[in-house]
Amino acid sequence: MDLLDRDCILAELTEAARAALHRLEVHPILDSTNRYLMAGAQAEWPSGVVCLAEQQTAGRGRQGRSWLTPFGASLACSLLWRFALHPAALSGLSLATGIAVARALQNAGVAEVGLKWPNDVWWRERKLGGILLESGGASGDFYVVAGIGVNVSLPRQEAAIIDQPWVDLQEILVGESIARNSLVARLISELLETFLHFAQGGFADLAAEWARFDQVKGRRVSLHLPNATVVGIARGVDATGALLLETADGEIKPYIGGEISLRVEA
Ligand code: ATP
Repeated sequence: MDLLDRDCILAELTEAARAALHRLEVHPILDSTNRYLMAGAQAEWPSGVVCLAEQQTAGRGRQGRSWLTPFGASLACSLLWRFALHPAALSGLSLATGIAVARALQNAGVAEVGLKWPNDVWWRERKLGGILLESGGASGDFYVVAGIGVNVSLPRQEAAIIDQPWVDLQEILVGESIARNSLVARLISELLETFLHFAQGGFADLAAEWARFDQVKGRRVSLHLPNATVVGIARGVDATGALLLETADGEIKPYIGGEISLRVEA
């Protein structure tokens, strides 16, 4: 098994990423890399701390769901970043994080990587990775912890608890060996560069790239809101990252992420 090696990863980061990185921590086991960095953020850790874990015992998904991360079988990576921007300017950051992950995977040879709004990483409509952004602090000193999970080679028995279609890189890249250290170095580099970029231009600069990875555009979808479900045709996203949904009356309305789950209708 190719274990994560901090020195190898640091050596493969891009220069821009190395300059933006404050510290890289590699842990054998954590409950959750996001929980760990959220605690660090509350203890005044600076922007640019990245944390990896070989295993998460309580990996987090959105809205209290869990994310499976067996030892050495995935990439579990979180980044702490502080923004001087108003929190409202950060809409679209979780989509931007998805773009960073999709780029890293595409560069690693995953030709059909796609994104399902707001933040699932898909391959042929199966879940290859997930993204969870958590945040805190006050306007002007706002922090975000961006967590990413990517399946590399999930043991089938443990993965049996996943209640939706999923896939791992081992199945996609049949026969190729997967160098987790190189892959995670690409992932961290893309992530740091995307966050640097986002602090300047927000999501508007990335909207065209989202369209390239968007797997739901033009499809009939249902949006599950906390108290209602709406059905319509997905028409891409706007400059803030909101999903544009065309309903039966022909009206197109934006929906902002948060607690919305999207499902593609048959
Ligand atoms: P949404 O569409 O709202 O994001 P989701 O069900 O995809 O909903 P997430 O919070 O993104 O929710 O991810 C958690 C869900 O992902 C779990 O409930 C489980 O169904 C699935 N899951 C958990 N671990 C994995 C994994 N390693 N690979 C793929 N899917 C997983």
